[in-house]
Amino acid sequence: MKNIDDKIRLVCGQCNTVNQFPASRLDETPICAQCKEKLFQGVPINVNAEGLARHLRHSGLPVLVDFWAPWCGPCIQFAPAYEKFASLVGNQLRLLKVDTQQNQQVSVDFNIRSIPTLALFRGGREIGRLSGALPLPQLQQWVIEQLTNN
Ligand SMILES: [Zn+2]
Repeated sequence: MKNIDDKIRLVCGQCNTVNQFPASRLDETPICAQCKEKLFQGVPINVNAEGLARHLRHSGLPVLVDFWAPWCGPCIQFAPAYEKFASLVGNQLRLLKVDTQQNQQVSVDFNIRSIPTLALFRGGREIGRLSGALPLPQLQQWVIEQLTNN
């Protein structure tokens, strides 16, 4: 059970600052204490290896990561569905993107064998992984299933 006054932590997508505020204020368009940008922008957050580690370590919300690369056709095709998903999830989920060409060590660290790969984390622990692009409805369904069953 979650107390309404429990603190929740979120990493700012703009400046990487870890923000902390009462969970009851999650619905009130929280603003970063450091850079004053909105913590939820309705778009995927592009992160490097360091940013990814920071989100996984500190995010009070589940984190979905799209491991992709600019040379990968299916990744490019999948991008609009992922962006649409980011606009729909609101403050329920953090959506990140990692360019594996720019961050090659990430592929090794996370054992990424093909792209796109989607991985879902909660409390820093991976609870689901999916390889290959999905249409938006199936993506939503998959995420709900992982969060429900894990
Ligand atoms: Zn910020």
